[in-house]
Formats: sequence, structure tokens, C-alpha cells
Amino acid sequence: MSSKKNISMPETFGLPTVGVETHAHLDFPEFAEDLDQVVARAQAAGVVWFGNVFLSPVAYRLHHTRLAAIPGMFFTLGIHPHEADTLTTEMLADMATLFADDPGLRAFGEIGLDFYWNRSPRDAQVRAFQDQLALARDLDLPVVVHSREAETETLAILRDMDFTDRPLLWHCFGQGRDLAEAVLANGWHISIPGPVTFPKSTALRQAVPHIPLSRMVLETDCPFLTPQPFRGKRNEPAYLCYTAQAVAELRNQSIHEVWSACGATARAFFQLAP
Ligand SMILES: [Zn+2]
Repeated sequence: MSSKKNISMPETFGLPTVGVETHAHLDFPEFAEDLDQVVARAQAAGVVWFGNVFLSPVAYRLHHTRLAAIPGMFFTLGIHPHEADTLTTEMLADMATLFADDPGLRAFGEIGLDFYWNRSPRDAQVRAFQDQLALARDLDLPVVVHSREAETETLAILRDMDFTDRPLLWHCFGQGRDLAEAVLANGWHISIPGPVTFPKSTALRQAVPHIPLSRMVLETDCPFLTPQPFRGKRNEPAYLCYTAQAVAELRNQSIHEVWSACGATARAFFQLAP
């Protein structure tokens, strides 16, 4: 029998308005029709800050004015590993200018390695990651890292480039306790996405109780990675509550506690006003 009518909708969780969605792609065409409603639903569900991740200077220029008009919006920008082979010296200089000009740009990323899809050749991914890390270090910016099937290589590059104890967020964390402990030992932060709600995410679910909330933030990565109970549908920031709920259950804490603590961690990481 369908339990659809028993789904708790986000606004019914009664979460305090301190939530931070740390990773969204609201400039994607999936949100072109109903962005205002998407934002309103999130706000009704306690999300007050939205981190929009731009994947290129082109995307930034096309969409940042419209998004910046939304209260609580902040940005990150970087060339994703999928497009690593498009990165040029001119683009690096262009991104440096954008960061200098826009205080709403709070972190460099998402950048990293994706050896699952391999949409750019691996050597191009490594080079783009290194070049962007060097720029982020020069500009003294926090970094948002994407790493898929490339954890060892990612850690090695970050170590070689002296990123230990620099502000770094490991986005869309999906692995187990060993990687979580390596990330934490380097002084970095971990972002928990919707798949923590899937019963089969065993390693991730086992890792969650071992990550202090002072180092944990929450993300949707919308329109992707929709948590239960909406798995298979378009993801949106309002669904962050389901991720918080799964984290709370795994830690035997209240969802309010997780929501507030992860919100505070995210505000500190991205230097958002209280
Ligand atoms: Zn993303």
C-alpha cells in the first residue's frame, strides 16, 4: 500500500530559520520555471542561506544577478572536473577578477577529480585541480572539493599543495569512516548529501556519527541526489530537512539540534552574517 499520504512535507518539520543549503545548482534549467516557489518552499522549511555553485564564469555571468536578488544567496565558482579540459589561463585570470569584484562569492569550487565519469581526461582533471587550488590559495579562499572514485589521488594532491588546515569542504561526502577521519585529521569540513537517507548507503551512514557537527554541513546538490521520500524526483533545497532527519536519527540527536549546529558550522565556514 502506498504511504504517500503519510509523507511529512518540509514545512511541517518546524525547523528554526537557521538552515544553510551549502550546495545547490539553482541556475540549472531544471529551476528556470519555478525558482521563486522553490525558494519560498525552502524558506518555509527553515532554509535561510543558499549556496549556489557556478560551474563556469559563463554561468556566473548569465545567472548571478537574478540569483543575487534572492535574500540569503551566496556563491561559489570553479571549473568542475567534468569540464577540466576547458580551463585556460585566461579563465583563471577571469575567475580571479570575479572573486575580487563580488563579495557574494565565498569559496572556490566545486573543483576536484571525477574518475567515475571521466568526462575530461584524467591528466586534464589533475592539472585543472592543481591550477585552481593554487589560485584559491593565492586569493586565500575556502575550497569546495568534488571527488568521486578518486579519493587517494585527491588527498595526495591536497597534501602536496599544502592544504592541510586550510578551509576546505569535502562536498557530497559518500564514503565511509576511514575517509571521514582522513578529512577531519586534515582540519577540513564534510558536507552530507541526500543519499544519507538511503538504507543502502551503509558506509556513509556508519561514518555520520563519527563526524562532529562542528565540521559537518548539509547540502542537496539539487537538482541531483534527491533524498527519500522524494528519490527519483527533482531535488530542491526544501528537501534538506530529510537529510537532517537521517543525520539526526543516525546520531541519536534531535533534528533541531542537527539543523542548528550544521547551520552554524556552514555560516562560519562561508563567513555568512548570523
Ligand atoms: Zn554540485
